[in-house]
Amino acid sequence: MKLPPELPLPRSLWRDTASPAPAPVKLSRSETADIAIIGAGFTGLSAALSAIEHGLSAIVLEASEVGWGASGRNGGVVSTKYRVSLGEIAARHGVETARQMYRISLDAVQCVEDNLQKYGIGDADFAMTGNLRCAHNARALAKLVHEAETARAHFGDTGLIALDKATVRHETGSSDYVGGVLTTHGGIIHPLNYTRGLAAAVRSGGGAIFERSPAVSTAREGDRTIVNTPEGQVTARYLVLATDGYSDITQATAAVRKTVIPFRSAILATAPLDPDLLATVMRTGRSYSETRRMMRWFRPWGSRMLFGGRGAFGREDTKAAFDALETAMKKTFPQLEHVQITHRWSGLVSMTLNSLPQVGILDRHTGFALGYNGAGIAMSSLMGRRVVDLLVGGRPELGLMRRDRPTQVPLYPFRAPAVRAVAGVYQFLDRVGL
Ligand SMILES: Cc1cc2nc3c(=O)[nH]c(=O)nc-3n(C[C@H](O)[C@H](O)[C@H](O)COP(=O)(O)OP(=O)(O)OC[C@H]3O[C@@H](n4cnc5c(N)ncnc54)[C@H](O)[C@@H]3O)c2cc1C
Repeated sequence: MKLPPELPLPRSLWRDTASPAPAPVKLSRSETADIAIIGAGFTGLSAALSAIEHGLSAIVLEASEVGWGASGRNGGVVSTKYRVSLGEIAARHGVETARQMYRISLDAVQCVEDNLQKYGIGDADFAMTGNLRCAHNARALAKLVHEAETARAHFGDTGLIALDKATVRHETGSSDYVGGVLTTHGGIIHPLNYTRGLAAAVRSGGGAIFERSPAVSTAREGDRTIVNTPEGQVTARYLVLATDGYSDITQATAAVRKTVIPFRSAILATAPLDPDLLATVMRTGRSYSETRRMMRWFRPWGSRMLFGGRGAFGREDTKAAFDALETAMKKTFPQLEHVQITHRWSGLVSMTLNSLPQVGILDRHTGFALGYNGAGIAMSSLMGRRVVDLLVGGRPELGLMRRDRPTQVPLYPFRAPAVRAVAGVYQFLDRVGL
C-alpha cells in the first residue's frame, strides 16, 4: 500500500493563537459506523454533526490534524459570497434560481452563527462586522453598485450599502479605492478555533475523529463501504468525501479529485501595530476585499493586519510570491512600510468550472461536497450538513450546487499551466483597468 507523505504543518497566525487541541488519536483497528467521512475541515465536521443529529454514528478520518486543510488556514472572512454574482446567476438561470441561491447563502452564514451558539465556540471570536468590497476603478464601482441595486430589487436585500470614495478611504486607511459596497451579512472569525470547536462538538456528541489517519483506499462490500487507513479500517453504510482542494492526497478520493482545480492562496500577518498606526487603518474593524480579478483582501486580528491574495503557482510556496504580496500590501498602505511581517502561510482553494460548489451523491451511498471557490467558511458549514440530508433521503435546498455527479475538469493534466495562463490574463486586465 502506497502511503501518502507526511503532511507538514503550516506556521500560521491561527496555529500560534489557537486554543489547544486534544492529542491526535490514530485509527489503529477496525471500526464500524453508519457514516465514514474523509476530511476534518468544515465540510467533514459539519457532516459528522448532522449525522449525529440524525441519530447516526459517525467516524471522521483526517490525513493530518483537524483543520490542517483550508479550514484552519483561511482568512476568516465569513460571507454570503459566491464567486459568480447573483446578478449573473439571475441573467443565466432566472430570478427564481438567483433568489434560491441568495436564500442558501444567508442560510450558510446563519449556520455558522447557529454552530457557534449551539456548541459554545466562544473562542472563535466571531463578529458580525460586515464585509466591505472596495472598487479599484470607476467601472468596478459601477458594477458593484448595480449588483447592490439588483439585490435590493430582486431579493429585497437592504443589507448592501454603497459608500463613496472618502468613506472608503476613511474606513480602510488606503487611498487606492474609488468607493465600495458594504455587505452587512458577514463577519470575521478565528477559523482554526471554529474548526476545533466543531471537532469538540463532534466528539462530545459521540462521534470519533481519527487524525494522522489518511484514507488510502475504499472498497465496496455488499451494502457497506470499507475505508482503509495505513493501520486500520472503517466499515460504514455511507461515505462522505469532504476533501475540497486537498482531494489529491490519496487514491481514496479519486472520484472527486479531477472536479476541482486547486489554486494557492496566501496570507501575511503583520506584527501588532502601534496604536497610532492602527488608528489609521481598518477603522471599522471589518473585512475588506478588492474588486480586482486577482483579488486581495485584508482584515484585522487584534492589533495586526492580515493581508491575503494569490500565492505561488505549483506545489510549494515561494519567497517571491510572499514578497509580491508584501509589496502589494505596502503599496496599498504606505504607512505600513516599516512594519514587520511575522507570519506567512498559504493553502489551497478549490476552483470549479462553473465557479460554484458541487454537492451530491455519487452512488446511493457516497456523498460529496466541495469546490467552494475560495468562499467556503459559511457554505461548507452548511453543505456538510446538507450532503448528509441527501444521503438519508432528504431533499435539501441546494440550488445550482446540486450535482448528480461532480463535473470533471477537462484536460485535467494541463490544469497547472492553464491556471498560470488565466492568472496572467487576469493580472493584465487588472493592470489595464478592465
Ligand atoms: C489561504 C486561504 C484563505 C481563504 N480565505 C477564506 C475566507 O476568508 N473566507 C471564506 O469563506 N473562505 C476562505 N477560504 C476557503 C475556505 O477555507 C474553504 O472553502 C473551506 O475551508 C473548505 O473546507 P473543507 O472542509 O471542504 O476542506 P478543507 O478544510 O480543505 O479540509 C479537507 C481536509 O481533507 C483532508 N484529507 C484530504 N485527503 C484525505 C484523505 N485521503 N484521508 C483523510 N483526510 C484527507 C485534508 O487533510 C484536509 O484537512 C480560504 C482558503 C484558503 C486556502
